[in-house]
Amino acid sequence: MPAHPLPLASLRPLVTAKPETLWRTVFEQSHLGIVLIDPATDRIIDLNQRFADLAGRSRDALRGQDWMHLTHPDDLPLEIEHKTQLRQGQIPCFLRDKRYVHPDGTVVWVHVNETRVTVAEGEPPCFLAMVEDVTEQRQTRLALRAEREAAARYEQERALRQTQELLQMAERAAGAGAWDWDMRTERLNWSPALFQLFGLDPQHAQVNFDTWRALVHPDDLPGAELALEEAIRDRRPFVASYRIGLTSGEVRWIDAYGQVSYDASGEPVHFTGLCIDASLRHHTEAQIRQLNAELESKVEARTAELAQANAALHRLARHDVLTGLPNRLAANERLREELLRMKRSHLPYAVLMIDVDHFKRVNDQHGHAVGDQVLQRVSQCLRGPLRESDFVSRFGGEEFLVLLPHTDEAGACLVAEKLRQAVENAPDPTAGLVTISVGLAMSDPAQDDQDAAVQMADARLYSAKQGGRNRVVHRDPANG
Ligand code: GH3
Ligand code: MG
Ligand code: MG
Repeated sequence: MPAHPLPLASLRPLVTAKPETLWRTVFEQSHLGIVLIDPATDRIIDLNQRFADLAGRSRDALRGQDWMHLTHPDDLPLEIEHKTQLRQGQIPCFLRDKRYVHPDGTVVWVHVNETRVTVAEGEPPCFLAMVEDVTEQRQTRLALRAEREAAARYEQERALRQTQELLQMAERAAGAGAWDWDMRTERLNWSPALFQLFGLDPQHAQVNFDTWRALVHPDDLPGAELALEEAIRDRRPFVASYRIGLTSGEVRWIDAYGQVSYDASGEPVHFTGLCIDASLRHHTEAQIRQLNAELESKVEARTAELAQANAALHRLARHDVLTGLPNRLAANERLREELLRMKRSHLPYAVLMIDVDHFKRVNDQHGHAVGDQVLQRVSQCLRGPLRESDFVSRFGGEEFLVLLPHTDEAGACLVAEKLRQAVENAPDPTAGLVTISVGLAMSDPAQDDQDAAVQMADARLYSAKQGGRNRVVHRDPANG
């Protein structure tokens, strides 16, 4: 919206006044101090009453005076600089705040607007200064600033107090103490909680790194010092764990954490950190380690016992109690192994099925105990002539299975015959002559069934019985 122009009629009273009267009235009644200065001499040509009041002198005393001497000495250098620029026409005017000093020492702050003006055609220019009293404004501003600064200071102090209280709470809760090392002054500060943690009186005189070194366990000191150096050098967080020995003799574990801060040029200036009492954790960990070790040794012992029991069980399950020979289960396992070995090595093995002849008669005539005794004697006779690698087992009641690894048919026949003779040549003191019948079969590389040779040996054993007993049969009757 364009501004409404003033109606001409409202200007009329002013317009009708004579210009000299008009300007003289303005000059005299202005609330601004007005002063006209001769730029060549800096002397006052004319001034109004308001200016005389601001300068703290009478108009008469001021007229013709060097007006520069009114200005506070501290404000003069800038005043002179501005004035020179104004005089040389570099600037049309300048505005600034400065002080006047009254003869009684009173200082008045003024805002000055000084302009270069040409009063009459052909005459040299003058300086016209309009001066306003800003002492009160300034005081208000200063008071306001002071108030604001005081409030900010109070707020800072309150925040600091709060931080310190929080730190103390955190220290108490964590069993921790804080430290701060001013790296420029080498001054080390400990919080009261840290003194307590290290078993020292908080009223203790100045602490330094030697105080700390003296408390750290000698075995842990090199590591802790290295961690400090590395944190500064490599600009990374400081983490260390070490023991301290208190004067009371107590040993405490300390977990230490810290951080270096740097100034704008990258120089390390502060090293701040926390020490936390980690004794309980270390104590608990040690207990857990000990418990674990105890548990481990118990488990080891139990495992060994179990292994022993298992081995005993394994042996028991695979041995015959009466003769001490491997039983049928062991024989079947051995037959399986031998079949697989033969498949790999292509070396044959022989199976002998042995049965005591007319054994029932022994029992019937002499009783079971003698029968058992005969079985034990027979098993010894069978074991005697065999190689370590041969295998004898009690396969059933009075039946025995012998396995001869890496043996061909001719060799197996010789062994079988040896066994037959061994039994025959060892009569029982009570039962007298004991004989056995033997069926012999060779392994067949084409067979995948471990029982095939056993069945064949069994069939030949039957043949031996049929043939009159106390003999070895190694061929089927049709082939024989
Ligand atoms: P054959 O010549 O035909 O083999 O006749 P045999 O009497 O030996 O055969 P039979 O199968 O008729 O009898 C075997 C006997 O062996 C029957 C059984 O009571 C006896 N026996 C089996 N095991 C044991 C044992 O551990 N101890 C004793 N004392 N006798 C047993
Ligand atoms: Mg039998
Ligand atoms: Mg028999």
